[in-house]
Amino acid sequence: MSMGSMTRRGVLAGMAGAALPLSGRTNAATSPPRARSSGQSADVLVIGAGVFGSWTAWQLLQSGKRVLLVDAWGPGHSRSSSGGESRMNRTGYGRDLVYTRLALESMQGWRWLSAAAETPLFLPHGVLFMSARMEPYMEQTLQVHRELGIAIEELDRTALQRRFPLLNTTGLEAAIYEPMSGPLMSRRAVQTLVRHFVAAGGEYRQAAIATLEEDAAAATVRTLAGETLHAEQIVFACGAWLPKLFPQLLGQRIFPTRQEAFFLSAPAGDPRYDAAHFPGWADFNDGDVYYGFPDLEGRGMKVARDEHGPPIDPDSGDRVASANGLQDIRKFLQRRFPQLAERPLSETRVCQYENSSNGDFLIDRHPRWRNVCLVGAGSGHGFKHGPAVGRYAARLVNGQLPDSELEPRFSLATKMQDQHRSVL
Ligand SMILES: Cc1cc2nc3c(=O)[nH]c(=O)nc-3n(C[C@H](O)[C@H](O)[C@H](O)COP(=O)(O)OP(=O)(O)OC[C@H]3O[C@@H](n4cnc5c(N)ncnc54)[C@H](O)[C@@H]3O)c2cc1C
Repeated sequence: MSMGSMTRRGVLAGMAGAALPLSGRTNAATSPPRARSSGQSADVLVIGAGVFGSWTAWQLLQSGKRVLLVDAWGPGHSRSSSGGESRMNRTGYGRDLVYTRLALESMQGWRWLSAAAETPLFLPHGVLFMSARMEPYMEQTLQVHRELGIAIEELDRTALQRRFPLLNTTGLEAAIYEPMSGPLMSRRAVQTLVRHFVAAGGEYRQAAIATLEEDAAAATVRTLAGETLHAEQIVFACGAWLPKLFPQLLGQRIFPTRQEAFFLSAPAGDPRYDAAHFPGWADFNDGDVYYGFPDLEGRGMKVARDEHGPPIDPDSGDRVASANGLQDIRKFLQRRFPQLAERPLSETRVCQYENSSNGDFLIDRHPRWRNVCLVGAGSGHGFKHGPAVGRYAARLVNGQLPDSELEPRFSLATKMQDQHRSVL
C-alpha cells in the first residue's frame, strides 16, 4: 500500500508498551495504494470487529471480496462499545427518516442472524417509550411509522397500567409501543457474525494496528507485533479508538464518553420480568432519559441513564461503576419501577459512547487516502444499525454508491467540533 509522506510514530496507548514505526513506501496520495502481503493478502482489510466492522466485513465478503478482519482484543470484547450484553433495537427516531429507514433495513439482518444462531440474538417482544405528555418526538415517531407501514401503538395511561403492571404510571400520560422491536444480545451477536464470516471464507485475526498519523501515509499497516498487513482498501471501524488513531482528523470530532449500566436481579421464579412479558423501555422523563431491558438470560434488569457521561479513554478508563450512578438509578426506579428499586445489584457495566457532534454516524473515505474508509461514531445508538451500516460501507468501499445515494449526514465534512446532540 502506498500513501504520501510517512511519519514514523505512534502506537495505540494501552495496547502494548513498545512503539513501532509504521512501515510504508512513499507514493502519490492520489494513487490507490497496493501492498504486498507478508503473510496473506486480502482485497479489503477491516480493522475493528465491533458491530460496524463485522457487518462491513460480512457485506464485503458477500460482494465477492477477499476480506481480512482484525481486532486488537476480539469481537465484542468487554471494552468495545459492542461488548455489552444487550442493545435496544427500535425503529422510532422521531421524524428522522434516515435512521428510521436504516433501522428498518437492519431488522432483516438481525432476524437472519438470530435465526441462524444457537440461541436467539434478537428478541422482538416490544419496546415502550413513555412520557409525562405526548412529546413531539413521539408524535413524529407515530406519524413516520404509520406512513411507512411499520407497526406501532399509542397507549394512554389506562392501557399502560393494564399492559405493564410492574410500571408505576404516576405522572405518565403518553406512551408509544413498537411491538416488533426489542433487545439484541449484542456481544453474542457480534461473535456469532464473525463466526459466520469465517465459515463463509472470510479471515479473522487478532491483531492490533499501530496508529496512523494524519500526515502519515501507510502503504502497509503494521501490527504491534511487527507484522505488516496488506490490502487494496482499508476500513477503520475502530469505535472509540478512531480519535486515537486519527488524532488530527478525528480527535476533536469523535468524543468518547463514559456510560454506566446497572443490572438489578429480578425476583426469584417471577416470569413477569422476562423478555416475553416485559418490554425494553425508555422513559423520557422531561428530557432526562432513562432506559432499560427485561431480565435477559438471567443477568438482571438493566437500567441506565442516557445522559452523556464524562470523557473516557477507552484504553485507560476504568470500568467500575460509581456509587453515585447506582444511587441515581435506584432513585429513578423508586418512582417508575418501585419493585426493583431495592433489588440487589447483580452486575454493572461501564462502556463508552463514541459520539459525533450531533449523533450522526461517520461513514466516509479518508479525505486524503481514497482507499481508506472510516466507519464509526455510533454515538450511543449505532448497534441496531450494524447490518445497514455494513452494507452502506461495503458499497462505498466497492465504489457502488452513486452520488445520489451518498448520505451527507454520514460524511466527514458534517462532523463538527462542538457537541450538540440531536439524534436520539
Ligand atoms: C452503554 C451503551 C448503551 C448503548 N445502547 C445502545 C442501544 O440500546 N441501541 C443501539 O443501537 N446502540 C446502543 N449503543 C451504541 C452501540 O453499542 C455502538 O454505537 C456500537 O456498538 C459501536 O460499534 P463500533 O463497531 O463502531 O465500535 P466497537 O464495538 O467499539 O468496535 C471497535 C473495535 O475496534 C477495535 N480496534 C480499535 N482500534 C484498533 C486497532 N488499532 N487495531 C485493531 N482493532 C482495533 C476495538 O478493539 C473494537 O473491538 C450503546 C452503547 C453503550 C456504550
